[in-house]
Amino acid sequence: MRKSLMKINALPLKWRLTVWTSLWMCVFFLLYNSAQYLVLDRWILIQDRNAIRTSMDEIQGYYADNVSRDVLGSKKFLEKANQRDQLIRILDRDGKVMLSISDDLPEKWVKPESVNRTMLVRTWHEKDHLLVMRSPLTVGSFKGTIELIRNMENYERLNQILLVIMALGALGGITFSMFGGILLARQFVKPIAGLSETMRKIKHGGLTERVEFVDNKDELSKLSQVFNEMMDRLEASFQQQNQFVEDASHELRTPIAIIEGHLTLLARWGKNDPSVLEESLKASLEELSRLKNLTQDLLASSLGESGQTESEGSNPAMIIRKVVDDFAVIHPGFTFETNFRLPDGIHLAITEHHLKQILMIVLDNAIKYSGQQKKVVITTKKSGNNEAQLEIADNGVGIAADHIPHVFDRFYRVDKARSRKMGGSGLGLAIAKRLVEDYRGTITLASAERQGTVVTISLPIVMDSQRFLI
Ligand code: ADP
Repeated sequence: MRKSLMKINALPLKWRLTVWTSLWMCVFFLLYNSAQYLVLDRWILIQDRNAIRTSMDEIQGYYADNVSRDVLGSKKFLEKANQRDQLIRILDRDGKVMLSISDDLPEKWVKPESVNRTMLVRTWHEKDHLLVMRSPLTVGSFKGTIELIRNMENYERLNQILLVIMALGALGGITFSMFGGILLARQFVKPIAGLSETMRKIKHGGLTERVEFVDNKDELSKLSQVFNEMMDRLEASFQQQNQFVEDASHELRTPIAIIEGHLTLLARWGKNDPSVLEESLKASLEELSRLKNLTQDLLASSLGESGQTESEGSNPAMIIRKVVDDFAVIHPGFTFETNFRLPDGIHLAITEHHLKQILMIVLDNAIKYSGQQKKVVITTKKSGNNEAQLEIADNGVGIAADHIPHVFDRFYRVDKARSRKMGGSGLGLAIAKRLVEDYRGTITLASAERQGTVVTISLPIVMDSQRFLI
């Protein structure tokens, strides 16, 4: 028993479910059919007993009404009162048969027996099941016994038919329940199999796979839903991590190059020239603090953190000058022309280090893709009532018209080979766009191949030291 149980439990889930449901159905059918059989059996028996009792009462009634008659004279009545497969005998006090009326039931099947009180017994003659009722009889001076013997052939036949029907029903039921079990198991196991198949695909192919979701509002569809949601979160956090690494490696490159440039200057001239020493140290420290902010920013954006804070606006001319000075250190051969056409006192509604970050991305591109024309022009001007524009123009290689709509996409590079050679990864403009839009600004790019590119950044303005909400 234990061994077969262990064997069943070692089967795959589908078969385990099938075997268990079939087994339970089997037990259920057996119990149900046995109960039904017993009830019917009892019922038929009671019917037969009632019938034999009624016959007996009828005969006793007859003798009570005809006390003066001779017992032997009641033959006609008894013949009429008798039923099929039934024997009626009248015995005298000594048990001798006085009168015997039989309809198809041989007399010798049951030995005559006189009684003092009414009794009902079941007995067998070979295969025949007999119901025998004996009752004392007094008619005038005659004292004897009435015997009523009934062959329960019908009862037996009915019983057998019942047994066959029930056995067939049970067999059919078990077969049906087995098929039902298989279907049920298949239905039940299907979503689980889908789940495990998806997990296998995820293991081999990555986090983008999802389970097919049918909203049945049952536990399994809930499981699929929870699984998919969990995968969404996992994928999102994986993408965030990836983005963090990608953005970090892109964004940290320029400040590190600037610090390196200043340190090289220091090593070469700074020791003897106090003004270079002072300026380069200051610039390096500033860049280091920007690097610190940048790392915090990257971390915050990768964790999806955002909250409303207040900040002071930034002075575009001052920031542009700083960035240009830093770039001049790492790109000594370049000319940076600046045209500041913004009225005094106008500040941009963006934090200094973010404005610097955006400018560095755009300037870095202008330099990377400048070709032979080593000149970049930066212009600031007012556009509309509450907006200022920064234009960064180069006369470099430019971008073909069909590429322009895609340059703000992550990882989009027009000329992969050239971009890679320049250390590009296709991330700069995507980061710049995200930053500008965080400050409710816009960034656009106009370009013509071999003529140059103009990047225009529009940002809301604030007056002087007015604060704004990010
Ligand atoms: P990358 O890190 O490759 O420079 P960006 O997102 O900054 O990535 O730029 C996307 C692509 O747009 C670059 O690969 C380059 O082909 C093109 N591009 C950007 N700025 C300029 C520019 N000033 N001149 C020419 N092409 C540019």
